Amino acid sequence: MDFENLLRSWPVYRQLTGDDKLGRGKAAQSKRSLTLTPRTVDADKVAHSVCPYCAVGCAQKVYVKDGKVTQIEGNPDSPISRGRLCPKGSASKQLVTGPQRLTKVRYRAPYAKDWQDLDLDTAMDMVADRVLEAREKGWQQFDKDRNTLRRTMGIASLGGATLDNEENYLIKKLFTALGALQIENQARI
Ligand code: SF4
Repeated sequence: MDFENLLRSWPVYRQLTGDDKLGRGKAAQSKRSLTLTPRTVDADKVAHSVCPYCAVGCAQKVYVKDGKVTQIEGNPDSPISRGRLCPKGSASKQLVTGPQRLTKVRYRAPYAKDWQDLDLDTAMDMVADRVLEAREKGWQQFDKDRNTLRRTMGIASLGGATLDNEENYLIKKLFTALGALQIENQARI
């Protein structure tokens, strides 16, 4: 390697002598990185989504190839996040494709040691039965002075910060219709 090439292999030399004065582009690229192409280039399609982790709601682009998610990136068009994702949001692909992700309903009966698989319809019926039973048990029609209450103290709702506006709207509507008073969100605690 001659002296000029030796100097050019040094990123700070390229930064000082080239166009990339901040050293965040070409000046910082190694020979190897110049030969690499991003995973996003050969995607069949790109779906628009929102990061599921917190209430900031950063926009995401989900790259798909052969029916599989190959990469998830921040969406520069988002007025909220302008293409950025925090480390947690940047790792959302693992949430989708991780081998430990549960894709079936799991149920552990009271006092049982082991979990079992349930089909979704059975699980939904069990949840509905329990909600109705708890609502009924905690129902208060009147107070001691015969003022109408029509409420239940048997159920409460605690939402998570990953819920979006639409989900929170429906949850509030559902629980208020059921007569619940304690309707809260983790973000307010
Ligand atoms: S990328 Fe980070 S800040 Fe943005 S929504 Fe996801 S977890 Fe929240």
